[in-house]
Amino acid sequence: MAKASLKNTLREKELAHGLEAVVVPDQWAESGSIIYVEGSGIRIRDIDGKEYLDGSSSGLCNVVGYGNKEVAEAASAQMVKLANTVSFGGVSSMPRIELSRKLAEVTPGLRRFIFENSGSDAVECTFKIARWYWRQKGRDKYKIICRDRSYHGATYAAMTATHAGLDNSDFAPFAPGFISIPTPYCYRCSLDESYPSCEIACAQALERTIEREGEDTVAAFIAEPVVGSEGFIPPPPEYWSKVREICSKHDVLMIMDEVVTGFGKTGKFWAHQHWNVIPDLMTSSKGISSGYMPMAAVGVTEEVYKGMTETNKPFPHLHTFTGHPVACTVSLKVIEIMERENLVEKAATLGEHIGDRLDTLKEESPYVGDVRGLGLMRGIELVADKRSKKRFDPNRRVGFRVSRLARERGVLYGSVGDDIMLLCPTPISTMAEIDQILDAVEWSIAQIGGM
Ligand code: PLP
Repeated sequence: MAKASLKNTLREKELAHGLEAVVVPDQWAESGSIIYVEGSGIRIRDIDGKEYLDGSSSGLCNVVGYGNKEVAEAASAQMVKLANTVSFGGVSSMPRIELSRKLAEVTPGLRRFIFENSGSDAVECTFKIARWYWRQKGRDKYKIICRDRSYHGATYAAMTATHAGLDNSDFAPFAPGFISIPTPYCYRCSLDESYPSCEIACAQALERTIEREGEDTVAAFIAEPVVGSEGFIPPPPEYWSKVREICSKHDVLMIMDEVVTGFGKTGKFWAHQHWNVIPDLMTSSKGISSGYMPMAAVGVTEEVYKGMTETNKPFPHLHTFTGHPVACTVSLKVIEIMERENLVEKAATLGEHIGDRLDTLKEESPYVGDVRGLGLMRGIELVADKRSKKRFDPNRRVGFRVSRLARERGVLYGSVGDDIMLLCPTPISTMAEIDQILDAVEWSIAQIGGM
């Protein structure tokens, strides 16, 4: 079938039967979806045959590149050998057991892993473990403290802990027992403080909240080590050690949500390793399978595991596809490739170069108020006026239009909240490809003047 008519037929089918989320319905009805058909390395091609350099790693997942035959062959061999078995209730598979061991090896301090199918599932699981843990210890600690600019997922409790990205207000009522505190965001501090004279007021807010709510009611604190969907915001240097100290002092479990930040993107295997802290629980997804299979994991310390099993009651938590053998095989292969190709170190080196170029962009562009991030995860905050930090009128949809311009020029990078640009290429990119992506980023931002 000719390309144009294949596209038209697909569009007709999609508009008749698709149920698309996170789009304005009439705009979607008008334009349909962008349809990608194949990828290789860091390049992806759409149904019209146009090729793009992917500067956002396919939804922040891709670590080993598109079209990786080693991953595909490992998955295929496992499918033929044993496509699936349940993975709970004392039934397991070889890939699942091997993956738990491997994750323990690459994750200082966390010893045991349970598997999930998405980042949201993993987040839900951490809440269940936290409440379960304290109740096995005979303590009715159930409240979860989260942060006001975080994204943790789309399921009910994960969404309740989420305060960024989407307007979820029509889904109320939300899960009970969640309290939010300010997020470290020095460029626009919601506490009207400035670093370092603030003495990390955003971390102190955690302690004040625990004291106000009552230590005996608070089970856990959840946060992303680097705030993802608000533009890759790392906290002040002392933030995480202060939070670790507060959580330990008040018997509150510290949950690191590494769904986005794990698997080398920040220049360390896990982002929290930048601050030498060890969480009590941690989530992982996205990079864990490089996007080749739906996959997620939750890691816990040995101490948390001991608490969970103290009463010898079975932890009542399962999904049919938990610990799927093919997904576990894919994850093992991804980690093997990352180690062999030194992808974490590569992310750090490429990331330094990106950081340098973005610093120059910030100095030179009248539209760039802030640049931030770690390793390959970089955020660019666009402003209408640099001195006053005035935002663009949201009706102008500046961020969206900038990313569309870059797309037309053959480079993919994302935008959130109308004025924050997200850049996260994969560590398999060459320096020349990174420069090509950055050229398009600079060019697309320069076009704001004519919008
Ligand atoms: N946690 C964080 C930090 C995320 O960024 C996301 C998704 O982007 C999630 C959880 C939810 O993951 P998923 O979309 O796989 O459910």
